[in-house]
Amino acid sequence: MNELLARRKLTETCKMLYDRNLTVSAGGNMSVRLGEDRFLITPSGRNKGLLNPEDMVLINSKGRAVSDGKPSIEHKFHLALYAANPDVGAVVHCHPLHCVALAVSGRSIRCGLTPEGVILLGDAPLIGYFTPGSKELVEAVRSNSGSRAMLLERHGAITQGRDLEEAFNRMEELEFQAKLQFLVGDAEDLPAKEIAKLRKM
Ligand SMILES: [Zn+2]
Repeated sequence: MNELLARRKLTETCKMLYDRNLTVSAGGNMSVRLGEDRFLITPSGRNKGLLNPEDMVLINSKGRAVSDGKPSIEHKFHLALYAANPDVGAVVHCHPLHCVALAVSGRSIRCGLTPEGVILLGDAPLIGYFTPGSKELVEAVRSNSGSRAMLLERHGAITQGRDLEEAFNRMEELEFQAKLQFLVGDAEDLPAKEIAKLRKM
């Protein structure tokens, strides 16, 4: 994808996340892979509903900015996911309310309540609490890099996908499943046999 188009698409994704209450104020960070050593990421400390294409920051695989602007402090876990997964083209991290409510109370998201949860998310591990921006958080994310989605204790959620649309869809589905979990109480998961069948789809 060329850089100009990627800047536009990343801006649109940020606006959708913000408009659907999947992230609030300056929370979260989103990125897209442009090439082997080029990634576009949201700038540090800005409201995701108010970004323009030119605000996005181009970084290399070492995390150094190669355009104007200061990249998000969390760029290192984005780079760790890209390095671990050659087929991943986009990473979304934000703080959706119901995901955070689960993550604050140390509970995982149950992805087996509906077929969509199983198909889109698979499983979504809960990663322990580490200070935002810390090396420890990067290592914890790296060791769960095989999951499409994950919760960060007392913090938020991360999804990855082949492109921005897939990473966005997974975040939207993750928050849907978190909200559903609060609404249905202790309703049972789909039968294990059905979950296994759906996972193969
Ligand atoms: Zn965060």
